[in-house]
Amino acid sequence: MFTLMELPYLKTSLEPYMSAKTLAFHYSKHHQAYADNLNKLIAGTDLEKESLENIILKTFGIAEQSGIFNNAAQYYNHNFFWKGLCPFTEKSEPSQDLLVLITKNFGSLELFYTEFKIAAAGLFGSGWVWLVKDGEILKIIKTFNADTPLTHNLNPLWGLDVWEHAYYLDYQNKRADFTEAILKNLINWKFVSENL
Ligand code: MN
Repeated sequence: MFTLMELPYLKTSLEPYMSAKTLAFHYSKHHQAYADNLNKLIAGTDLEKESLENIILKTFGIAEQSGIFNNAAQYYNHNFFWKGLCPFTEKSEPSQDLLVLITKNFGSLELFYTEFKIAAAGLFGSGWVWLVKDGEILKIIKTFNADTPLTHNLNPLWGLDVWEHAYYLDYQNKRADFTEAILKNLINWKFVSENL
């Protein structure tokens, strides 16, 4: 049985970059629905005893199990998304180790932001943009719909939800403004370092 994680901050504490209304709908309606649907779909099946990661990997690419995959992967992605954010007042800078890797792979922190923003703007439809570790290399990748770095054998460090439900109430069609606001103000760099 998968339950909705506790948010590590108040619903108001990501304002003004993410409103309490957006956060409440996103967490209490969308994320909750993925958890509820996943529980319903695996009830009484062999998958009920599996870890979330195993459910995702075992159902990936199997048409008859796409409902389970989509809900499991979205449940996972959202857990990751919420943990990757923090209130602006608690924000830290990237650790020295991380900054070295970012500079080595992207040129600078600013160039990392630029590349991430281009990826977010260029994702057609719904999906996610991720900072991932591939061996010793850091990369920015896009995944579509519910897909997740796990199915590509990549280690996610940070992920941004660019489904419209993530930003439409606050930014309407301006995904670029949402991306910029989150990147510059709400990344929980401590969490990113923990995933290295
Ligand atoms: Mn979402």
